[in-house]
Amino acid sequence: MSGFGLKFKKGDLWAVLFVMALIAVLFLLFAARGKGGCAVVTLEGQEIARLPLSRDTEFSVSGKYHAVIAVEKGEAFVKDSDCPHGDCVKSGKISKNGQSVVCLPGRMTVTVEGDGVDAVIG
Ligand SMILES: [Zn+2]
Repeated sequence: MSGFGLKFKKGDLWAVLFVMALIAVLFLLFAARGKGGCAVVTLEGQEIARLPLSRDTEFSVSGKYHAVIAVEKGEAFVKDSDCPHGDCVKSGKISKNGQSVVCLPGRMTVTVEGDGVDAVIG
């Protein structure tokens, strides 16, 4: 047994570094997009829905108060709510990771979360 062919030439090393750099750049590009993956709705501390921001949809929450959470053009917002002050409706639209809308009287939150590992690039 001789000649396993594991001798690294200088060119091979550069090729490996190039591929590693390419992977790092792709990863950074993907992470830098900053757009959240879905709007997570919780009611009284319990997660009740995950709405993908990639698809326009509406979701009704029937807790202490009735609310409608909508996703339009990649943004989530509380479209309608019969809670006392309606602050959650006035909070506006959220689309970036970590942003959230809280409805204190209704004990409801809407938080944008990333896609995680199983995200589809593009
Ligand atoms: Zn509210």
